Amino acid sequence: MAEAVARAIRTGDHLAVQAGTGTGKSLAYLVPALRHAVEREATVVVSTATIALQRQLVDRDLPRLEKTLAKPLGRKPTFAILKGRRNYLCLNKLDSGMQDEPDDEALFDPFQVSALGREVTRLREWVSDTETGDRDELVPGVTDHAWRQVSVTARECLGASRCPIGTDCFAEKARAEAGRADIVVTNHALLAIDALQGFQVLPEHDLVIVDEAHDLVDRVTSVATGELTSAAVSAAARRAGRVVDQELADRLLEAGDGFALMLEDLPSGRLDAMPEPLAGALAVVRDAAYTCLSGLGPERPADLDVATARKLAQSQLDEVHDTAVRLLRAFDADEAHKRDVVWRTADSGLGPPRPPALKVAPLAVGGLLRERLFGQHTTVLTSATLTLGGTFDSMARSWGLPADREGASTKAEGTATDKAPDGPKWTGLDVGSPFDHRRSGILYLARHLPPPGRDGLPPAYLDELAELMAAAGGRTLGLFSSMRAAKQATEALRGRSELPILCQGDDSTGLLVRKFAEDEATCLFGTLSLWQGVDVPGPSLSLVVVDRIPFPRPDDPLASARQRAVEARGGNGFLSVAATHAALLLAQGTGRLLRATDDKGVVAILDPRIATARYGGFLRASLPEYWTTSDAEVVRAALRRLAAN
Ligand code: SF4
Repeated sequence: MAEAVARAIRTGDHLAVQAGTGTGKSLAYLVPALRHAVEREATVVVSTATIALQRQLVDRDLPRLEKTLAKPLGRKPTFAILKGRRNYLCLNKLDSGMQDEPDDEALFDPFQVSALGREVTRLREWVSDTETGDRDELVPGVTDHAWRQVSVTARECLGASRCPIGTDCFAEKARAEAGRADIVVTNHALLAIDALQGFQVLPEHDLVIVDEAHDLVDRVTSVATGELTSAAVSAAARRAGRVVDQELADRLLEAGDGFALMLEDLPSGRLDAMPEPLAGALAVVRDAAYTCLSGLGPERPADLDVATARKLAQSQLDEVHDTAVRLLRAFDADEAHKRDVVWRTADSGLGPPRPPALKVAPLAVGGLLRERLFGQHTTVLTSATLTLGGTFDSMARSWGLPADREGASTKAEGTATDKAPDGPKWTGLDVGSPFDHRRSGILYLARHLPPPGRDGLPPAYLDELAELMAAAGGRTLGLFSSMRAAKQATEALRGRSELPILCQGDDSTGLLVRKFAEDEATCLFGTLSLWQGVDVPGPSLSLVVVDRIPFPRPDDPLASARQRAVEARGGNGFLSVAATHAALLLAQGTGRLLRATDDKGVVAILDPRIATARYGGFLRASLPEYWTTSDAEVVRAALRRLAAN
């Protein structure tokens, strides 16, 4: 992998590397990247999806390499971490007293107001202790609402040259440090903002390494997703009221009320056409925001407090105006050429009720990535799961890279395949895994069970799960496709098994995973975050059970719109969207089983469609190559043997 990364740097061709858990992939890209940075005096950007990996790079891998490579490189390499401006405390906002006004509900809830006040006081005290102003270093953390009182977005920042505190600003210091570093570690969101939104937030760089690249498209989609709520319109109007004629601000406030009424009446879900009354309400919001923007007065007022208030108002008004424009334009093109999908959110039913919002997200981000990421920088993408159905094609397509037209498999270990159809040149490489999947793991496909139903888990699934858990002596990670199913299984099995069962939501996920790891008999049931976030080596995890193939829900607005868009262009929407989504999650979920070279165990998939349906072959080819069987007795006997050892 290190040689392939060095070659990509030399040739400028992009590289996708699948490298299983435990291969040391971060060292394999950091070493050639550091050599490049030092030799060329350039900065290399390394982007991750999770804070856990960011911490691993900055706290463990890079400090080790700093020492080890100092001699061969001729000097000590340097590194820095850089996050979005919102992650750093803004001293100007704290000093200027420009905190957000509480929204209407909070205004009438003295408990909320005083809790917020206490958090902001804590943040004020923290200022004198912190050297970085980085939110992640504040332990315990504060709510998003409190953090918003002391931070600004890039759009809200006055700019270092104008800001009275510019020289002491935490975000500016972090940027300056990043500008001097050989390696800058950041996250996919900031990478997306830098590449897509025209704000230059990262230092000049010629090489980007995207680790956890399986998450890139989702993170980029989030950055490119807009949201409009009546609360956001009201907040912008209140901010505007400090710097424009009250009459203009009141007009925007009224427009927000009109929009709220329309949203209340709108059923949740995807919008295939814009209802006229909603279009009317949005146009009123758009025009009222524009009028406020026009009434903001001179761009650089002499008074700094006015400048800060103006900037905060302008940023919120811009956001409201631009999102209303984007929502109104989303329906201009025909089905095959649509760029955006619009939906009204539904209350999840979990936690406190959330007022409805109108969201707008891009149908695809591949075109953007191709132009703004691959078109500008040599890019190395890596993850433990990049091949689906045995090739890199699905991932490549989602990134905007040309798929392998010959359809050659890139699954063979250590082989590299050059991709040369039109579009950016790239190479796929699967460096394999240190685990011997066929010897260490069994894939059990319960083909005799009924297909999953709509009304919760069928009784036969619960029986099967109970027998498998009993044979394994606990040690079970249950990965469910919905919280409802996880809870149903927990309740049913707590009643018939002596084994301790933890369910996601009983406590913080981190704590539940720790309890699960500490006690071999304990089982842990849960949903999506467990599919990707559990790393428990050793005998505490010997059985991973998946209840159903994790297709996106049929009412998922983005997935269903993406599926339709592929079909409108004559493609197979189900395979390229729903099955690909399921394959990626399945590969990650089943990858929870083997985390250390002497781990052994069983992955059980209860949904029989993985063995019987036509798309089953594609899904199975996306999983590690475990020894596969549908014989329940063989599996239970293997689990009993493991438990006895
Ligand atoms: S430069 Fe921007 S982020 Fe920094 S203190 Fe000033 S306004 Fe806040």
